[in-house]
Amino acid sequence: MQTHLEVMKGDITKVKADAIVNAANTSLLGGGGVDGAIHKAGGPQILEACREIRNRQGGCKVGEAVITTAGNLDAKFVIHTVGPVWNGGKSDEETLLANAYRNSLRLAQENGVTTIAFPNISTGIYRFPKDKAAEIAVATVREFLQEPGTLERVTFVCFDEENYQRYADLLKNASS
Ligand code: ADP
Repeated sequence: MQTHLEVMKGDITKVKADAIVNAANTSLLGGGGVDGAIHKAGGPQILEACREIRNRQGGCKVGEAVITTAGNLDAKFVIHTVGPVWNGGKSDEETLLANAYRNSLRLAQENGVTTIAFPNISTGIYRFPKDKAAEIAVATVREFLQEPGTLERVTFVCFDEENYQRYADLLKNASS
């Protein structure tokens, strides 16, 4: 069965999916933006699980991902991944952003996830150019889905109209 790719506008903490992806930072201890919103809505269980992972492996590297409970959210898991801070494009940011999407999908699949929702990783506080980030996100997800797996639906949740329009255009341009 082909995986359905879709875009929606709104708050990812309100989305019902097996797994919600968090644009975390390397400390895994929470922060602003979508990270703050997920911890606030999901409750202290998520931070507790993040602390355990941090104690065990010292946080999460840029481009990598870890999985925890989703606490009070309408999801089974939160997958915390760390996107790169945009540094003019000379620090391998594009590869690292693709890795963040790919490793999140891999972890989802390893945990039998069928539906997953992504925020627009790195396009807030980390200042990654939105057009480039959207292209990388869609291309990386499409490439990952070439191999058969558990995923039935991947949703890009856009908080702002600009990102929403970009994803809508990208998903329209080729069948998903
Ligand atoms: P980063 O540090 O990776 O840039 P941010 O949280 O600052 O992470 O921003 C990532 C994206 O998440 C931005 O496009 C921002 O508009 C968006 N965002 C912020 N809050 C939410 C939310 N509640 N739901 C979905 N997206 C959100």
